[in-house]
Amino acid sequence: MFKVPPIPADRLPALLRAMPKAELHIHIEGSLEPELIFTLARRNDLTLPYASVDELRSAYAFTNLQSFLDIYYAGASVLLHEQDFYDMARAYLARAAMDNVAHTEIFFDPQTHTAHGVAIETVINGLHRACEDARAELGISATLILCFLRHLSEASAFETLEQALPLIDKIVGVGLDSSELGHPPEKFARVFARCRDLGLHLVAHAGEEGPPAYIWSALDVLKVERIDHGVQAVHDAALMKRLAQDRIALTVCPLSNQKLRVFPNLADHNLGRLLEAGLAATVNSDDPAYFGGYINDNFTQVFAATGLTARNAYQLAFNSFEASFASNADKRVWEHRLKETFERFVEYD
Ligand SMILES: [Zn+2]
Repeated sequence: MFKVPPIPADRLPALLRAMPKAELHIHIEGSLEPELIFTLARRNDLTLPYASVDELRSAYAFTNLQSFLDIYYAGASVLLHEQDFYDMARAYLARAAMDNVAHTEIFFDPQTHTAHGVAIETVINGLHRACEDARAELGISATLILCFLRHLSEASAFETLEQALPLIDKIVGVGLDSSELGHPPEKFARVFARCRDLGLHLVAHAGEEGPPAYIWSALDVLKVERIDHGVQAVHDAALMKRLAQDRIALTVCPLSNQKLRVFPNLADHNLGRLLEAGLAATVNSDDPAYFGGYINDNFTQVFAATGLTARNAYQLAFNSFEASFASNADKRVWEHRLKETFERFVEYD
């Protein structure tokens, strides 16, 4: 491992913004800004139950996962045509490129859209075209992960997978998201087994609000390669050991955790504890339009609140590349650029 040079504390926020990083936990529907929701509603002749952008933004005062999800699904209802999905992804990718995101693996929820009559081709083709264009025009690498909504049935997940099969080369993996409590990973054991047979990468949300047992079953029953959130793992010493030993990455989302009251304050966040225990934690934005910040806001705010250091910053960015589903050749290029960024910050002193 690269020996991280001492970086003055006052330069840490600039370093966090400048360092190349991968984003591995971003729901594209959660990047829909109120302005774009209104633009799309107008374009599609839809009337929103909010009079203005400001009124919609003020409705974002949710207090837990469920109250957030209610408004999240309402926002996603304006997405009808391939171009709508393209525009949403393109806006996120431009924003991520500004935050020096070198690579991103984007979650999307097809069931949210197919439920009101949008074809899965419309969703996947729009998102995929935005990823392709962003690679050429913004220099950012982007792939797609199809997520099953866990509050829906196993049959609905299977149906979604069937619909996606003709487009399977446009996604790198599958995930599991939405309301965690009462919907343990094992509900989707057979769907994930089928996806594994198809050669797809596997991830799942577990241990955000749910117990460590959900993380165990995501690992042992679903056989996922990464855990999304996973912050409740600290309540189970054996699980912490397992996650560290197997280098199972956790895609941690500090501002989301704060907004949904997983931790009472950002200062109470356990990111530092996860790193100390040798876990491959990463920092991500989850639903940036709703949770008050994109990836660099997550980095700068959690570092300011918890006193993490430049060494932690390097580790988190390095972990994000290692935990990605990108090629080893790409990982080496990004990790080299990461090292160069840290060296540059010392030289200017
Ligand atoms: Zn999430």
